[in-house]
Amino acid sequence: MCGIVAYLGKKSAQPILIEGLKRLEYRGYDSAGVALLGGGAIRIKKTSGRISALEGILDEPAGGESLGIGHTRWATHGEPNTVNAHPHLDYTGKIAVVHNGIIENYTTLKTWLQNEGVEFASETDTEVIANLIGYFYAEGNQDREAKKSYGQSYGLLTENKFEWAVQRALQKIHGTFGLAIVCCDFPDALIGAKKGSPLILGVGDNEYILASDAAAIVEHTTQAIYLADNEMVTVRADGFGTKTIDNVTVAKDLKQIEFSLEQIELGGFQHHMLKEIFEQPKALSTCMGGRIDRRNNRIKLGGIASYLRELTRTKRLILTACGTAFHASLVGEFLFELLARIPTETEYASEFRYRNPIIEDGTVVVSISQSGETADTLAAVEQAKERGATVLGIVNVVGSSVARATDAGIYLHVGPEIGVASTKAFTAQVAVLTMLAIELGRRRHIGSNEADKHINEFSQIPDKISRILQQSDHIKEIASANIDRDNWLFLGRGFNYPVALEGALKLKEISYIHAEGLPAAEMKHGPIALIVDGMPVVFIATSGPQYDKILGNIAEVRARGGKIIVVATEGDKHIKSALGRTDHLITIPDAPELLQPMLTVVPLQLLAYHAAVLRGHDVDKPRNLAKSVTVE
Ligand code: GLU
Repeated sequence: MCGIVAYLGKKSAQPILIEGLKRLEYRGYDSAGVALLGGGAIRIKKTSGRISALEGILDEPAGGESLGIGHTRWATHGEPNTVNAHPHLDYTGKIAVVHNGIIENYTTLKTWLQNEGVEFASETDTEVIANLIGYFYAEGNQDREAKKSYGQSYGLLTENKFEWAVQRALQKIHGTFGLAIVCCDFPDALIGAKKGSPLILGVGDNEYILASDAAAIVEHTTQAIYLADNEMVTVRADGFGTKTIDNVTVAKDLKQIEFSLEQIELGGFQHHMLKEIFEQPKALSTCMGGRIDRRNNRIKLGGIASYLRELTRTKRLILTACGTAFHASLVGEFLFELLARIPTETEYASEFRYRNPIIEDGTVVVSISQSGETADTLAAVEQAKERGATVLGIVNVVGSSVARATDAGIYLHVGPEIGVASTKAFTAQVAVLTMLAIELGRRRHIGSNEADKHINEFSQIPDKISRILQQSDHIKEIASANIDRDNWLFLGRGFNYPVALEGALKLKEISYIHAEGLPAAEMKHGPIALIVDGMPVVFIATSGPQYDKILGNIAEVRARGGKIIVVATEGDKHIKSALGRTDHLITIPDAPELLQPMLTVVPLQLLAYHAAVLRGHDVDKPRNLAKSVTVE
């Protein structure tokens, strides 16, 4: 994953890079480093650990260093130590590189370079890029390679020799990259290149910020260009030029970055995750806004308007996603089958892409990803496109790779999600799937009256979430009472089964407590053996057709000494008698079962949040994780 940031302008680069890296730290935090250019030399500072560790070893910014590149790493190749930290210098010491992605043929290239006498210092795949560029840049190699590719002597290419060496190297690479590259012979040039990993160039007043994500740019400018795959940008003090890595000039439009600084700041909350949990009522209102026409009780999904007819006639839907978005997709599967009677399957993107999926005429694939950069989801999109499917996207980040790779799509419009554990994106993904299912339902199966009823109920969801949020302190007490327990179960049925999976995932990823989510009835087929005295078992036992059954499941757990934490419907008269003295009750406002996931997930998000804080973990930067998984 990794975050990369680079600066070229008139100011001192170092503080700008550090500030930018802090904004990108959610993307990875195994190690951090910067390379600064000044006086014809490259000065590198890097260390294992977080940006704060890097700050601890930095010198005062040196005068004249107004070009630099920085990196915060999520290690894929080589342990997260200082040697493997980026930036990586090439073997000649002239070229420095920061990289986000994976070079798949790096062992072949490394062996080839080693045979050419090039020495490597790190275990990373990234160093291969630095050394390849260095190799093509080095005297002697240039001429031979230039004659090979252009049939002319290298002397004629001197003007662009840095750019040319980068192109030559990138043409040899298989895999994914977002790159920022500098060369000490060109103290006013910065090169960026992209394939499969995001890269944006912020264009300010006589300054440029190249970064993985707009969060590192908005403080300086809101104008940006978004590079496409296999494109590169060469930035100079007086302007920039964009080309493909095969040296074909491409014109790029300046785009407005959509979000503001306030949206990515904590605004009084202790953590981004808590802020984002509490933002959900507003975020969902924005997500629904303009899409629900209350006067005519209609849903309008502009982004996919031209595909609605095809969707209405579709014979099969495949929803593909990873992690939390996969759980949202499962809710979507239930919704499409119930409301629109479209046979629907949910597939892990990482499995879908490799299992030779059957895509017949009339199959529509919907890919769901908060960042729109999830490598597995992106690969699934490509796979589906190759097989002739219409592919739609549901993403949050405007202009992201999934948004661009799909035929059409629906944005979540919930603002940036910074907390690594996804919260508001989940509820918004479910909201978008709900809107789509109701609209397709109206056209295919349920008719207008029932669709109107669902729309009315659906528009009350943001207010109902606000009421659940008032129980945050109560939920904290529940987390506290069970904080020493290392194994938890989350059980739900029907629409709340995916929520049980999501509740367990939240607890695992930020509090490092082992948790499993299951359909409640599955418990008796094995996992019930895990239940010991005092083991917390979270039940979603809200109103719905399977309510009585789940009361039975609660009794089974109680009989074996499990500690019950139940999410039930306000005003439920029976639930108290199903609980013991030390069990816990959380309530949600009543809602039809098919809309409940947007409500029942909220207490589980809060439970995981409070458990993680009580255990002293860094909630926004859980170990081994990073926000957008841009590697396979
Ligand atoms: N493959 C590079 C490394 O391990 C970059 C990793 C990434 O972008 O996640 O250092």
